[in-house]
Amino acid sequence: MTTPRVLLLHTGGTLMMRGGEPSPLLPDVYTQDLVMELPLLRKIAELETRILCNLDSGDMQPHHWVDIARAVHEGLGTHDGVVVVHGTDTMAYTASALAFLLPGLDRPVVLTGAQRPLVEVRSDARSNLVDAVSLATMPVPEVGIAFGSRFFRGCRAVKLDAWGMHAFGTPTCAPLAELGVTVEVASHVLPPRAVEPFDPRLEPRVLALRVFPGLDPSLLRAALEGGVRGVVLEAYGAGNVPHLENSLVPVIAEATARDVPVVVVSQCARGAVVLGRYGGSAAAGEAGAVSAGEMTAEAAVTKLMVALGRAGDSGRVLAARSAFGASWAGECDP
Ligand code: ASP
Repeated sequence: MTTPRVLLLHTGGTLMMRGGEPSPLLPDVYTQDLVMELPLLRKIAELETRILCNLDSGDMQPHHWVDIARAVHEGLGTHDGVVVVHGTDTMAYTASALAFLLPGLDRPVVLTGAQRPLVEVRSDARSNLVDAVSLATMPVPEVGIAFGSRFFRGCRAVKLDAWGMHAFGTPTCAPLAELGVTVEVASHVLPPRAVEPFDPRLEPRVLALRVFPGLDPSLLRAALEGGVRGVVLEAYGAGNVPHLENSLVPVIAEATARDVPVVVVSQCARGAVVLGRYGGSAAAGEAGAVSAGEMTAEAAVTKLMVALGRAGDSGRVLAARSAFGASWAGECDP
């Protein structure tokens, strides 16, 4: 049997940081290849490492997602799988963006990171890396997050915990794999899909706005004046928004008339947006709001950016309706 080939792309995060209490954890000058720090990874696969950047993931920007996606797309031509080492803070956004920029996958793309650095004795970095490299050799052709002995669908993932070692979860989807004494791969892993030419187009001028009692609709109107191209509204429960005092309905209608789609996600971790279950969401739907169903805010923001990037300067509402009416990478039920 030939040894699997895995590409390891480093982007930053706690895993390779140094420092800590009382000084901040900071990205270290990248002097040591992490495979040199953890040589046992070579027992799993033949590894090639590339350092794409070395950032706290709080500093990730959409152009970094495009760079990572391009490197993954290139790497998949010559490797059996790709591992992306990434900070946990925005890992769910990057995982979602990669899933939408690379909808055709016939092999795994595994993001991982750690809550404590690899140089620490008590760290989750070693087990997460071993799990990630192992998963990158397995038949799981999805963009996923390997963390805390589980493999999660990237475009359903959320960071749930800033303290514990099980930082991620997918509240609306069972893990794709569980890594215990054996590795159990779930039956809902997507089948291999034909790899498509890489399309880097993405529109970053998207605004995510959490609805709260007292939200002044004129603030959203100002964002429309400021050139926002798409809005993700984090609404209450099943998609409800205020429609009496401080009603958001007129500004949703105004945005839609300006060809700025307003996509509605729920503030709840589980359950789907159903525009029309209550009066507020019925009015929002009539004004033109687009339901994101059970999608996470992370997935909705990144999918809207990709959909708008492909739409160009016209037909943005139509593009959003079409994008949010279908599953591209398992982010919602088809
Ligand atoms: N601030 C870090 C980052 O996201 C947190 C981590 O990696 O766990 O890069």
